[in-house]
Amino acid sequence: MDYPSSFLSKAFLAGSWIETPRTFPVRSPATGAVLAEVADCGPGQARTAIEAAAQIFPEWRSTTPYLRSDLLRKWHDSILAHAETLARTMAQEMGKPLVEARREVLYAAAFVDWYAEEAKRIYGETVPSRDPRKRILVRSVPVGPVYGITPWNFPAAMVTRKVAPALAAGCPFVLKPAEESPLTALLLAKLWEESGGWPAVFQVLPGSDPAALSGPFLDDPRIRKLTFTGSTPVGKRLYERSAPTLKRISLELGGGAPFLVFAEADLEKAAAGALVAKFRNGGQSCVAANAFYLQKEIAGAFTRLFAEKVASLRLGDPLDETTQVGPLVNAQGLAKVQELAADARSRGAKTILGGPCRDLFFSPTLLAEVPSDARILEEEIFGPLAPLCLFETEEEALAAARRGRAGLAAYLWTQDLGRALRFAEEIPYGIVGLNDGLPSTHQAPFGGFRESGIGREGGKWGLAEYLEPQYLSFGWE
Ligand code: NAD
Repeated sequence: MDYPSSFLSKAFLAGSWIETPRTFPVRSPATGAVLAEVADCGPGQARTAIEAAAQIFPEWRSTTPYLRSDLLRKWHDSILAHAETLARTMAQEMGKPLVEARREVLYAAAFVDWYAEEAKRIYGETVPSRDPRKRILVRSVPVGPVYGITPWNFPAAMVTRKVAPALAAGCPFVLKPAEESPLTALLLAKLWEESGGWPAVFQVLPGSDPAALSGPFLDDPRIRKLTFTGSTPVGKRLYERSAPTLKRISLELGGGAPFLVFAEADLEKAAAGALVAKFRNGGQSCVAANAFYLQKEIAGAFTRLFAEKVASLRLGDPLDETTQVGPLVNAQGLAKVQELAADARSRGAKTILGGPCRDLFFSPTLLAEVPSDARILEEEIFGPLAPLCLFETEEEALAAARRGRAGLAAYLWTQDLGRALRFAEEIPYGIVGLNDGLPSTHQAPFGGFRESGIGREGGKWGLAEYLEPQYLSFGWE
């Protein structure tokens, strides 16, 4: 690590950096080298964190929004000042190419910047009363202590997208980062502390047994909100586990985005958009294009343009400035991509591009003539593998887009304005990229329909997740 790093083996618990009796290794997916042995927190540390969050909540909630805004602003500046360290840490612990990791730092910082501003705009309302002797006042109050669980694929942005609005609203936050990427989260906590942030309002508990560590948070009624980003099966389990204490819930779950190209689309732009939508972060993004549906008459031309771009992608060491695709994060991720490719090929799909694999590196691959019963069209691929399918009519395209149970993102390329709007209104997705392969930005509501989740992150919607209305009914004496 490029930063004085003794804290990277610890947990940030109740305002202090602590060691735990056990540790677990964090490995580089590119080399297999152990980057750090990190504190392995369990139920004991979880209970301490809950006490600390519950204790600090009344004080934090009572601070002025100007103070919270100021602390978030300083954190933002510190994140930017340490952008290169954060980027290198991400590249090392989860294999994201350095060039992309630098962009993620800017994206992560943008959430902190936005919520530093929004903290000052948490307004109440007055509502006209039917009764002339009453007044109706509505306040926005913080929901209370929050437990957050983040995935490894965006180790910085998934943290700030949750923590910044929670702190802005007046909620203390306890974070459990993914086992694969705790170092970025610990570094973010260190920067929060060093820039003057109140230590106990943002705690980070790494752990190798997420279910055991999460248990006390899920069971404790003082934790008023659970915010989770990760896979749909785990999200459903956490939803159930949160029911007995009726927590507020935000779930940002799996995607599986269809990418549709109509005959009238600008094919050059569509191919460039496809490259970003599929191969950013090696395909390990919840909004990654899963399957491509091409209108028959342009399928050949689009495939040639797309294949040319994919063939030029450089696979390699994430720390190399020229690398565009790194390794997959772990052996399970690689096995899944290999299985889905093998299943599609066994059903008749043709490989039009793709090379051999080495360690966790999977060469960017295009499969054509993928039959409609292939598993790859139903399951989230989460890797640099692109299946191509054909359609003839808008009805067929609509049926393809409605397949499955996910509803996070969909992409549509067309120059027919009527078709674009008609289609967007007909498909069940929380995010629709209309001639846009990268529809992720901090001001907009990010989240999914159907089994892709509950709630939104980003913009004013992300702040509302941490607030609830309190209605004061004022009667004249
Ligand atoms: P995952 O669900 O296995 O892990 C995500 C997090 O949940 C990790 O921190 C992990 O430790 C924790 N976890 C796992 N089991 C748990 C349990 N029983 N109790 C408590 N915590 C538990 O997901 P993953 O495979 O690491 O991440 C990829 C998934 O995340 C994909 O499906 C992707 O689409 C989704 N994702 C969604 C969004 C979004 O905004 N919708 C963003 C990024 C990733």
